[in-house]
Amino acid sequence: MRELKRKRILVTGGAGFLGSHLSERLLQMGHEVLCVDNFYTGTRDNILHLLSNPYFEVLRHDICFPLHVEVDEIYNFACPASPRHYQADPIQTIKTSVFGALHLLGLAKRLQCKVFQASTSEVYGDPHFHPQKEEYWGNVNPIGFRSCYDEGKRCAETLFFDYKRTSLVPIKVARIFNTYGPRMHPNDGRVVSNFIVQALKNQPLTIYGDGMQTRSFCYVDDLIDVVIRFMDAPESISGPINIGNPTEYRVLDLAEEILRLTGSSSPIIHKPLPSDDPKQRRPDISLARNLLGWQPKTSLEEGLKATISYFDGVLSAIPKCV
Ligand code: NAD
Ligand code: UDP
Ligand code: UDP
Repeated sequence: MRELKRKRILVTGGAGFLGSHLSERLLQMGHEVLCVDNFYTGTRDNILHLLSNPYFEVLRHDICFPLHVEVDEIYNFACPASPRHYQADPIQTIKTSVFGALHLLGLAKRLQCKVFQASTSEVYGDPHFHPQKEEYWGNVNPIGFRSCYDEGKRCAETLFFDYKRTSLVPIKVARIFNTYGPRMHPNDGRVVSNFIVQALKNQPLTIYGDGMQTRSFCYVDDLIDVVIRFMDAPESISGPINIGNPTEYRVLDLAEEILRLTGSSSPIIHKPLPSDDPKQRRPDISLARNLLGWQPKTSLEEGLKATISYFDGVLSAIPKCV
């Protein structure tokens, strides 16, 4: 049997949706996790079940400031991901993406350790090419409401590749497409959590625009599988690599599927489409398939059922008077 070398792993944004699932999985694999978070969008509830584990440590820290710790690997997941939250304080979003990346790269350079960047499909903007391949440079508005996130993440990718070229830092850059699952915040504002919460509360489902825009939704467990596979792959594989589910749905189809699975009688209403909202998005995951031997396993129906059951529990725990 192969012996596991227990690694001490830094997960920034470890109290958020994806970071908490990643931390949990790394602990299950026998590693030690240092979770760094400023609790901007993350919550203690997401990591409550990990706090009693002696190999799990939490440090409240904002990655816009330098960080001096000793670890074997770094996963950078700190950054609000929902348009509602990243637009609430756009300057902080840019600082988190750019200064945060700089500090973690400085840390990785000093430690000569691998550093993983949670980049995003938003680097493609409102894409002219479909499905999106890694070599596409994107169509991004540099001065719009989404730019703080899109351009911040693009600049972070530039920093990652410059540190690889100039300082030989072993980098791993993944472009994550829309991912959903338990532990998304009920007020997160993203489409899957909004529709499920609205359906469960028998409130109208709010479709922005005509609902013909498309997205491809990946269940969180599938995403965590490939994130760890990518980190553990040879150092020569540095990306960028698209990760996500290549099955594409219209937002209207998603609303109808959620109504079917919840048995809700909520009506569908339409609200204005936010500016620069991408019209279509689907990853080409050939690179992830070929280099990492990965593809998602969870169907939308299975993933939505698990997510609905999670939100059902969260909503029934909230007192009605609040
Ligand atoms: P999330 O908002 O649930 O988690 C982000 C976490 O980062 C939160 O715990 C938040 O408190 C923390 N954080 C924010 N700013 C910080 C700072 N300056 N210092 C320290 N901690 C900070 O979002 P998520 O969906 O878990 O996304 C995690 C990462 O994955 C983000 O970098 C996001 O850009 C990326 N991503 C997510 C998706 C998705 O669909 N979920 C898609 C593409 C990329
Ligand atoms: N840094 C950090 N932790 C470390 C090492 C560096 O936060 O353990 C920060 C450092 O303060 C700097 C950034 O990372 O702001 C980039 O560091 P680097 O050594 O590449 O550049 P320099 O310090 O020479 O500007
Ligand atoms: N959306 C919607 N209703 C909502 C929330 C989002 O119709 O209540 C739409 C949104 O305009 C976008 C898609 O769903 O076209 C995905 O939005 P989300 O915020 O989840 O992610 P992103 O736009 O970053 O892909």
